[in-house]
Amino acid sequence: MKVTDRLRHDRPVFSVEFFPPKDEAGEAELWRAIRRLEPLDPAFVSVTYGAGGSSRDRTIRTTGRIATETTLVPMAHLTAVSHSVAELRHVIGAYAAAGIGNILAVRGDPPGGPLGDWVAHPEGLTYADELVRLVRRLGDFCVGVAAFPYGHPRSADTEADTARLLAKIRAGADFAITQLFLEPEGFLRLRDRLAAKGCDVPLLPGIMPVLSVRTLRRGPELSGAPVPPAVLERLERFADDPVAFRAAGLDVTAELCADLLAEGVQGLHFYTLNRSTATAELVSRLGLGAQATIPA
Ligand SMILES: Cc1cc2nc3c(=O)[nH]c(=O)nc-3n(C[C@H](O)[C@H](O)[C@H](O)COP(=O)(O)OP(=O)(O)OC[C@H]3O[C@@H](n4cnc5c(N)ncnc54)[C@H](O)[C@@H]3O)c2cc1C
Repeated sequence: MKVTDRLRHDRPVFSVEFFPPKDEAGEAELWRAIRRLEPLDPAFVSVTYGAGGSSRDRTIRTTGRIATETTLVPMAHLTAVSHSVAELRHVIGAYAAAGIGNILAVRGDPPGGPLGDWVAHPEGLTYADELVRLVRRLGDFCVGVAAFPYGHPRSADTEADTARLLAKIRAGADFAITQLFLEPEGFLRLRDRLAAKGCDVPLLPGIMPVLSVRTLRRGPELSGAPVPPAVLERLERFADDPVAFRAAGLDVTAELCADLLAEGVQGLHFYTLNRSTATAELVSRLGLGAQATIPA
């Protein structure tokens, strides 16, 4: 089942993102989250691709297990970091063999983070559009790419950044998922810029529930998205009260999601950090997922 087949025009959907667990405790936590979210019928679930060898094997294993042991539609992320084209072909082949038909093709970050200088593998790739082309050539995959409402940190401006996103879509991407953000405007402007260029592939907003002071500070720092002053004012008074902060942060996140749904987005992609509670609460509050079809 393809991600794009799971997106609907009559009712918005939700999807979730996990990362490959590091140890047995992490594995147990991840599978608790998967089993709790499964009955809510996410449109798809994705597993990120890490920087090192063993975490990469865990992505293949975890996504393959989701494909064979659950009813969920899996999507595996893939990056070009430190890989030759031959190695990338091998990973893509392993995804196909594990029954995974959806791949999020992202370049990945160099060791210095999003602002570091890219070090190309001598027999590798440099930009995500090349990875999209490779995945497309190797099989009948549905391919997603990354999008940045406020521009990728290394892009000169949002126009140049949008041109790069369009290049990835022209290379064969079927949809895009955005970096996290805290107010709808940047996302909506990006969607308008794509529409103005005649591009209508689904653009799914990436949502990171604001549950702690750390998420509020680190999320925007890593993504480049601004923290709206009104959100800061609303949340910072709870900085010393984690329970109240979480409740207010969840309200802020639910309001952002509701605004995006009112603007007609086809789905919300939740960054879960391998937990289920906040995502399940938001899905319930917003009337998304399987529960919306259960008669009262
Ligand atoms: C939804 C989502 C999921 C992600 N999942 C992962 C993951 O699983 N693992 C991981 O390591 N990282 C992940 N990332 C992070 C991502 O790898 C980084 O943000 C990375 O820095 C950019 O990836 P990209 O695919 O957008 O790269 P690109 O599209 O290649 O862009 C990278 C930079 O190069 C510029 N550029 C692109 N093409 C050209 C060109 N032809 N000439 C000149 N400049 C160009 C772009 O403007 C941009 O500044 C994810 C990001 C998002 C939004």
